[in-house]
Amino acid sequence: MIIAVDGPTASGKGTLAKRIAAHLGVPYLDTGLLYRAVGRQVAINGGDPDSEADALAACDFPDELLEDDILRTEEVGGLASRVSVHPAVRQALFERQRAFAEQPGGAVLDGRDIGTVIAPDADVKLFITASVQERARRRWLEMIDKHIDHEEEIPLAEIEKDVVARDARDINRKDAPLKAAPDALVIDTTSFDREQAFETVLEAVEEALREKRA
Ligand code: C5P
Repeated sequence: MIIAVDGPTASGKGTLAKRIAAHLGVPYLDTGLLYRAVGRQVAINGGDPDSEADALAACDFPDELLEDDILRTEEVGGLASRVSVHPAVRQALFERQRAFAEQPGGAVLDGRDIGTVIAPDADVKLFITASVQERARRRWLEMIDKHIDHEEEIPLAEIEKDVVARDARDINRKDAPLKAAPDALVIDTTSFDREQAFETVLEAVEEALREKRA
């Protein structure tokens, strides 16, 4: 059983995917973290995230890097968004994601192209979205809450600009652009709180799995 959860930046898809995986007792992969690790490794190497060769060289990042909290910062998110446009980077990360999806017992993966590229055969495909303003507001509140960025507090307007820029890069890239698979269920969580969003997603997953079994 493969569950694909896609959606734009800060849509809450990660939290939802993680909770669904815990609820079903299956492993979960945050594929954005792989792109963040590549972005961070480019910086460590002193490379240029816009150079395909530099970004590809950074795909050899050590596994311990995935544990580093610095991957959660806005800065590294921006680098991830830049390295993820290179087809060679997407190709280098493909097998790892595919192997995770295919493990016996099933898996939940979240990202941008899980339902379209990594697991077009997924049993359930969700596309989680929310308005730009709401996604920026959620990211801002999360940053204040967790103090994950070491730099000074970033104004909401800046975060909103960044969300718009990341959406544009994700949607307009040629290779594996962000889009809902034709058979994905699109869930807009703009007016939902966390619990409402989780209940809605859980219901959709259970319904889709019931249909599969019927
Ligand atoms: O989801 P997260 O914000 O951690 O992802 C960081 C960046 O990695 C995204 O902005 C996106 O450009 C890229 N990404 C991607 N494909 C995925 C997951 C993330 O291109 N499956």
